[in-house]
Amino acid sequence: MSLPSSTSIEQPQPRVHDVDVITCKAAAVAWGAGQPLVIEQVNVSPPQPMEIRIKVVCTSLCRSDLSAWESQTIFPRIFGHEATGIVESVGEGVTEFTQGDHVLTVFIGECGKCRQCASGCAVKISSLVPLEKVCLLSCGVAAGLGAAWNVADISDGSSVVIFGLGTVGLSVAQGANLRGASQIIGVDTNPEKGEKAKAFGITEFINPNDSKEPIQQVIKHLTGGGADYSFECIGDTGMVTTALQACRDFYSFHLASLLSGVCLKGWGLTVTLGVPKVKPEITAHYGAFLTGRTLKGSLFGGWKPKSDLPSLVEMYTKKEIQVDEYITHNLPFEDVNKAFNLMLEGKCLRCVIHMEN
Ligand code: ZN
Repeated sequence: MSLPSSTSIEQPQPRVHDVDVITCKAAAVAWGAGQPLVIEQVNVSPPQPMEIRIKVVCTSLCRSDLSAWESQTIFPRIFGHEATGIVESVGEGVTEFTQGDHVLTVFIGECGKCRQCASGCAVKISSLVPLEKVCLLSCGVAAGLGAAWNVADISDGSSVVIFGLGTVGLSVAQGANLRGASQIIGVDTNPEKGEKAKAFGITEFINPNDSKEPIQQVIKHLTGGGADYSFECIGDTGMVTTALQACRDFYSFHLASLLSGVCLKGWGLTVTLGVPKVKPEITAHYGAFLTGRTLKGSLFGGWKPKSDLPSLVEMYTKKEIQVDEYITHNLPFEDVNKAFNLMLEGKCLRCVIHMEN
């Protein structure tokens, strides 16, 4: 893949490279919505000025790859935005990268506004870090941790509810747990998620199909009036309303303060991270906001990729955050369609796809 290398224009040193079009022996090409990917030969153009060309080493399948595959109309396309690779060649003016650098690919750039940002970026990482693991930090795990830390800024002793226990939801759980949340409730319709979720800090698991009461009522009972924070990690816009209702409001806040005699953190905050699959509009009663609740969106967990991801990678190397634990499957590239099916059937958290040499 080719990505813009940098947003800075620091004295570009013209370099001459002998780079040609590369014929990739195998790429997994999607030709239509929901159709099996076809492994075929593709040509990759040389990097343009301020671009780099990356040889992808590993890609972990992300839920948004699946959503795009099921619902988008632009085909043919090649998926795999959550990836690690090695810089194969650099375009004119690139000073930040050289051939052989190990990188994470990120779907947004640093400022999010300029042309380079709109088309993503690459983040240089140490060559000692295992590429087959840290690819998860290029999207899902980073997005979940960032939503908990940067966007919600979860405080010690708080209550958290997470809708959707895929990799992103369970990364929110890990982030909440590391911030000292005392109650982390996970909601998912897949009964198999309950046991696995405990390893990431979930304290209670609710399957909405097992409950006669509306799920927001169950959460209100469990939390004594509503959660301090709720996270929508499914991409179901109807669930955003439920997540808002599951949060603490003005009245429950005062009642709980009165009963506990301590100063509570405040009213509820709902963060949405899921990428909607069908209906992108949300509906909510304005009363939810009048009574003090807040709704925030989170794209990449509020991280600035180039500035922030190296420190996240360092936390991984120091074993301060879990990443390997989300990898439930490893498959060779030729089995890419199996990876899509595993995720469709809800049988994997992350399936890492290993490119052949
Ligand atoms: Zn992703």
